[in-house]
Amino acid sequence: MRKWSMVRRKQPIKQSTKTTRRETNEPDGRTSRCPSSPPIDSKYVINGLTTHLKHWEDIGWIGIDNATFFQAIAYQLRRRPAPTTFQWVKGHAGHLGNERADHLALTGTLRPVPDTIDTYVPRNFDVQGAKLSDITQQLAYKAIMKKTQLNYHRSTLCLLDVTRFAIEPISKTLETDEAIWRGCRNKDITKNIQMFIYKTLNNAYRIGDFWSPIPAYEHRAKCMICRDEIENMEHILVLCNDPARKIIWDLAKGIWPTEHGPWPDPHIGIILGCGLISLPQAQNNENLTMGASRLLRILISESAYLIWVLRCERVIRGTDHSENTIKKRWVNAIDKRLQLDRALASKNRRKPKTTTKVENTWSGIIHDSSLQPPQNNWATNLEVLVGIKLPRPSQTEATR
Ligand SMILES: [Zn+2]
Repeated sequence: MRKWSMVRRKQPIKQSTKTTRRETNEPDGRTSRCPSSPPIDSKYVINGLTTHLKHWEDIGWIGIDNATFFQAIAYQLRRRPAPTTFQWVKGHAGHLGNERADHLALTGTLRPVPDTIDTYVPRNFDVQGAKLSDITQQLAYKAIMKKTQLNYHRSTLCLLDVTRFAIEPISKTLETDEAIWRGCRNKDITKNIQMFIYKTLNNAYRIGDFWSPIPAYEHRAKCMICRDEIENMEHILVLCNDPARKIIWDLAKGIWPTEHGPWPDPHIGIILGCGLISLPQAQNNENLTMGASRLLRILISESAYLIWVLRCERVIRGTDHSENTIKKRWVNAIDKRLQLDRALASKNRRKPKTTTKVENTWSGIIHDSSLQPPQNNWATNLEVLVGIKLPRPSQTEATR
């Protein structure tokens, strides 16, 4: 059996004040003058109180889990006039005290209302802040982030939940808010679309209800096509009767290789969480599944963003897009991503990982310009003219 000693560190404040003496004489049993050696099965607690306590106090408890409880225990120990040692015992090994503690903990978890735990530490025992000599930029940043209360707007909370539950059937996991925000910055999504998703989640676009309370501008709240419908991003991207919206989602569905599984129906949650989408590994090839997930992220993000851009051109500039123009814009957007990927693979041709990623993303939806199957080195050799399979509207017209 191993014994651990409590290191009685030099107090930052005088321990022998009248108040302290009075406290140590309290007949509550906690401040007994008898040496004590409580058995504990947690090395984390023992090390925290013996080895790490000074350092944790020096860094102002920044980023330390259970800081409140450690501070309260340290206060109780320092009040004791007698020494305290800790005795480590193996948990769940029949030790009477340990078994009783486990039983009490279990009983506590079953209570409808949790017990109030006294974690009071008087001001003269409570070491505030971090030592200037121990603080680092990283620690200071952590402290600032912890103190920054994130009060999301109600609409943001709603969109986060919608996103979480929309992605679950595809990715088979219920994502956290942090994961959704991180997904906005997925590298498979271009910077301007990352910003579009971030601003949509924050309800930062001047659409719909933004205009409702502004006299003489109330009419802007409603969709110009659906008339009675109040515009919001969900309406624009997945519900509106705008033909451009339907054409674009049909193109995306049409190009999606069926061997990757069913195409998910457009949904605001899937669009906002597209950076997080990862398909479950149905095929044995992990790289293929990653490629399919990447293609899905690209198709959803590019399609949704194009719908938004075309809507803005229609509403703000009054542009009327023909079906051919819409198809051409969509093909150009996806083809641009393909060619960017190929340029990257060509630049990093010595890194097989990049080439594999590009090949697995696009191999199901490309063809050679001569309508032949693409050559093996299409990803890295820019002289091979490959494009996405869909015929460009202009070419279709030319062949007719
Ligand atoms: Zn509409």
